[in-house]
Amino acid sequence: MILVLLGPPGVGKGTQGARIALHYVLPTISTGAMLREAISKGTKLGKIAEGYRIDRGEYVPDEIIVEAVDERIEEPDCLNGFLLDGFPRTIPQAKVFAGVLLKKKRRLTGVIDFYAPIDAVVKRFSGRRICSICGTTYHITSQPPKIEGICDLEGGTLITRPDDEPDVVQHRMEVYHEKTTPLRDYYRECGVLHTIDADQDPDLVFRATIELLNRLEAEETLIFEQGKWNV
Ligand code: AMP
Repeated sequence: MILVLLGPPGVGKGTQGARIALHYVLPTISTGAMLREAISKGTKLGKIAEGYRIDRGEYVPDEIIVEAVDERIEEPDCLNGFLLDGFPRTIPQAKVFAGVLLKKKRRLTGVIDFYAPIDAVVKRFSGRRICSICGTTYHITSQPPKIEGICDLEGGTLITRPDDEPDVVQHRMEVYHEKTTPLRDYYRECGVLHTIDADQDPDLVFRATIELLNRLEAEETLIFEQGKWNV
C-alpha cells in the first residue's frame, strides 16, 4: 500500500500517519523529518538543504526532494509499501513522482487528504511540542506526555519547533495554500483523492481512515489479482 498523506501543517497528519504505519506495518517517509535529520547529521542531502531556509518554510527544489524520496523508497522496508508525509508538495513533484513509481512498476494506492478549517489548525499549532532529543511530537492538550514538558521516550525536554512560532506558521500556511491546494485538485482529477474530516477526535479520524484504507487495500488486491495493473 502506497499512500500520500495531504493536509495543512498541524492538521494531525503526522499523528495519523504514525498510527496508520503501526496498523499496517509500513514505514512513514516524512520529507520534513528527513531534511531535518540530514541537516543535523551533516549528510550530502543535509548540506544541500542547508542552502534553503527550511526553518522558515522555504521549499527545497523539486529535483532534490524527488531524488531523496526515490532513493529512500528503494530501501527494503518499503517493499510492502510506505506512507508519504509532506511529499509531494507541488504538482511538478507529483508528476515526477508518478514517473518514479511507474519506473519501479509500483502503484499509488491513494491520497488521503486530512481536512480541517484553518482556525482549528492554527489553534493546534500553539500547543504542539517536540522532543529536543528524538523529535517525537506531542500536543499539550490532545496528546500530552506523561510528565509535563518531558518526552515519554527519551526523557528530553519538549520544545516548540522554530517553524511552529506564530509568524512562521502564518507564512507556512500561505506557502501551503499557494503551492499545495492545486495538488489536491490534481489528485482529485486523477481520481485518487480521498478526504477525511480531521477536525474531530483523533480516534475518530483514525477509525474513518482505517475504514477507507481497508476498502482501498481490498480494491487494490482485486486490481492486482485480475492483472489490471501490469505496467
Ligand atoms: P514539514 O515537517 O513537512 O512541515 O517540512 C518542514 C520543511 O521542510 C518545509 O517547510 C519545507 O521547507 C521542507 N520540505 C519538506 N518537504 C518538502 C518537499 N516535499 N518539498 C520541498 N520542501 C520540503
